[in-house]
Amino acid sequence: MDSLLTSHQREKLEAWLRYYNDLNLGEFYSDRRSMGKRIVKPRAAEAAAASVSVAVAAKPVPQPAPVPVPALPIVNAPSMFEVLDRIEGDTLELTREQLGECTRCKLHKTRNKIVFGAGNPRAELIFVGEGPGHDEDVQGLPFVGRAGKLLTQMIEAMGLSRDDVYIANVVKCRPPENRKPEEDEVATCSPYLFRQIDAIAPKAIVCLGATAAQALLKIQEPISRYRGSWFDYRNTKLMATYHPAYLLRNPAAKADVWKDLQKVMGLLGLQVKKNSKG
Ligand code: SF4
Repeated sequence: MDSLLTSHQREKLEAWLRYYNDLNLGEFYSDRRSMGKRIVKPRAAEAAAASVSVAVAAKPVPQPAPVPVPALPIVNAPSMFEVLDRIEGDTLELTREQLGECTRCKLHKTRNKIVFGAGNPRAELIFVGEGPGHDEDVQGLPFVGRAGKLLTQMIEAMGLSRDDVYIANVVKCRPPENRKPEEDEVATCSPYLFRQIDAIAPKAIVCLGATAAQALLKIQEPISRYRGSWFDYRNTKLMATYHPAYLLRNPAAKADVWKDLQKVMGLLGLQVKKNSKG
């Protein structure tokens, strides 16, 4: 099929396949591919017992006959042409539409508004936070509270505006009492973030805080060990730094974050202003 696709289509197809993999639909689809000729193998214990009998009796023992499983109906499975259409039209809008009024995890029960993400759909830089807080939940926009104001200052210190970048979170609904999102919530919601990242295809991703870094990089180490280092991630570069909410509690860490952001500016070819303090 390679010869039928442009390199752009191949890249987008890979992104879609990663998305289905992120949603754990890979096995589902491979099961469906083999429907109609699916065979149930004899259970391991039965097979082992049969092989022992062969050794003792030194004569062939009939194996249990494979049991054919009736084909299940394929519901809403897109054709390859439909997949290619979607690949060409893969956008943030489509991802938002597919997210809908999501009830896929328990966070939907207490949210006010879904905070999908905001900013430039063609941004070279994406900031990823943990999840919405109170102000974000009320407004439906990411990083609009006190920590958001600090993030805005950080972005402006880089010589950019919020409209130049894209801002999203690992989970799109506010966890009660601003608690950390739980593992099942991150696992359910993060594929939509991955899809946003693939649709935007930025040059750099900055994870704000350990929750975002752990969700994207699947690492459990304290953020202080890897902050400011570049990682290769989904065809782009990713760096983690401290969350603005942490900086509000620990202003001394702003200097570290400014060093990290200067590396991001270097990657993006942005000039560091002499009077920038971070
Ligand atoms: S956090 Fe994500 S997965 Fe959970 S309900 Fe909200 S949008 Fe859906």
